[in-house]
Amino acid sequence: MESLWNDAEAARYVTDVALRVYTSRLLGRDSTLVLHGGGNTSVKAKSRNAVGEAEDILHVKGSGWDLETIEEAGFAPVRTAHLLKLARLEALSDPQMMNELATQVTRAGAPAPSVEAILHAILPYQYVDHTHADALLAITNTPDGERRAREIYGMDTVIVPYVMPGFDLARQCARQFAAEARADTIGMVLLNHGIFSFGATARESYERMIALVGRAEAYLARHGAWALPQPKADAGAPVLRLELARLRRDLSDSAGFALVLATHSAPKYLDFARRSDVAALSQQGPATPDHVIRTKRVPMLGRDVGAYAGAYRDYFNRHARPAKAPRTMLDPAPRVVLDPAFGMACAGRTARDARIVHDIYAHTVDVILRAAALGGYRALPERDIFDVEYWDLEQAKLKKAGASPVFAGEAALVTGAASGIGKACVEALLKRGAAVIGLDVNADVVQLMGGRVDFLGVRCDVTSERDVTDALEAGVRAFGGVDMLVLNAGVFPGGQRIDALKSEEWRRVMSINLDANLALMRECHPLLKLAPRGGRVVIIGSKNVPAPGPGAAAYSASKAALTQLARVAALEWGVDRIRVNTLHPNAVFDTAAWTDEVLAARAAHYGVSVEDYRKGNVLKVEVTSRDVAELAAELCGPLFAKTTGAQLPVDGGNDRVI
Ligand code: ZN
Repeated sequence: MESLWNDAEAARYVTDVALRVYTSRLLGRDSTLVLHGGGNTSVKAKSRNAVGEAEDILHVKGSGWDLETIEEAGFAPVRTAHLLKLARLEALSDPQMMNELATQVTRAGAPAPSVEAILHAILPYQYVDHTHADALLAITNTPDGERRAREIYGMDTVIVPYVMPGFDLARQCARQFAAEARADTIGMVLLNHGIFSFGATARESYERMIALVGRAEAYLARHGAWALPQPKADAGAPVLRLELARLRRDLSDSAGFALVLATHSAPKYLDFARRSDVAALSQQGPATPDHVIRTKRVPMLGRDVGAYAGAYRDYFNRHARPAKAPRTMLDPAPRVVLDPAFGMACAGRTARDARIVHDIYAHTVDVILRAAALGGYRALPERDIFDVEYWDLEQAKLKKAGASPVFAGEAALVTGAASGIGKACVEALLKRGAAVIGLDVNADVVQLMGGRVDFLGVRCDVTSERDVTDALEAGVRAFGGVDMLVLNAGVFPGGQRIDALKSEEWRRVMSINLDANLALMRECHPLLKLAPRGGRVVIIGSKNVPAPGPGAAAYSASKAALTQLARVAALEWGVDRIRVNTLHPNAVFDTAAWTDEVLAARAAHYGVSVEDYRKGNVLKVEVTSRDVAELAAELCGPLFAKTTGAQLPVDGGNDRVI
């Protein structure tokens, strides 16, 4: 554990709050300290309000912000004096506390202050840092964690037994701090939860955190509990896509909504899932209580979703009845699945949520293994975890949560995704909340969307069945299935009359525009059948199907055959709840094939201006890739829920078709 403080970098941050931003980001950069919204920081500063009064203000991390990327706007300024008065109350419910905090914020539009605001206020130091450091969690989640913490820190920290975060924890800390802190106290250990450090400057507080956590790491090393076991399993990749898609369907059915399922088969997870003591280790509970919101209390072992859901209902009933206020049960589906065949799979309402689950459980595995090496992993009793999972504040968020995007939790596969209509389809589907697998023969598809977690670009020659099955395997491992299939890849060869059309060229066009799509449909069918909300296929046909042109025999015939294939699929697959519809675009010029020169040449050929050529349709409108893509996405949505076997033109109206 090393300090990342850099004088040159720090010099760019001048005010107290700016320096608070800087060292908060330093904490956030280390995922062994904080993860995804975990931890919080604060600084106390004086300021003058609009009527000239001096006020002490606590700038504390606001909810919804990550330490790694926090800005000044991510800190809520709260009047310290009022927080100190609240700290002296005998009791305060969490909703009341949040109301008090909100009404003492001095900047309109600031985020809600952290639930730990009162705790930050009572610590008499200008800077306060709080993390959920892995090393501390490995030590305190053991049967004699408290003794170990005392052994490591002596009198340098106050050690607080586990109390639920919020007002009660602030009270407990205030009491203990008053009684136990000395002039040289530099931190506070919260057993089974995390650690605080504090100081007179941003650097001092931050570097004390690094030093305190460093001492915990050194302790683990001295006790042979720091080095993680060398991975043994072979990360070989058995074909599992149908099993994974079935598992995801079961998880989604249990949750009541579609879930993305991301599979992680690194040796670390295979080894963990195959340990003989995996049940004892993994069924204890999370390393720190707030992880429960993301991971549920325990992972599912194996694939019996019904049994997991039943046990979850029992857990809810055991603890909800004695609770003060009535509780609404969350969905009973697990978010982490451990299985000896594939290692770990993480479920989320979006690909991003599934990634967060992965990141948290990746650290949880390390914490568990280190605690086990130290003498046994022992998490908090399930009652404490339940209280955080069903906290008033979390339940309130649940009630406020808005509607999800239309394709949340679903996965779509688009061919020819690197450019033109395919790329526009990728964007239209992502915009509607789907995770997207983009296939293209052009390797640029891999980086098409930068590093977005909800997009997987796979280089794939769709005429190679091996490429296609490999891509499907990768896609299902990334997102758990294929719910929507957009068959767009195709070639449009230059004008060739039949009397000059070579059989080779005919076969080339047929193999890409027709045969490849048969293989894709056949291989995707079992996945589409497992789609939690029913499968959907959109075929990008062509105006040439109803209105062919001379010189395009191979193209027109291939698209006509593809259209017929789609109609038969609609008939055969309706029983499997799979809808198959076809779009017939025409004159979509914003694609790679249509350079300005080609466009000018074609316009000249017909003796019209480029403008007239572009808009040569009944409505006199230009048809863009985006127009086609938006309709393709809508065809997969609820508007067309009862439409299958249809063919829709997207061509601005064509007098030969009409
Ligand atoms: Zn915390």
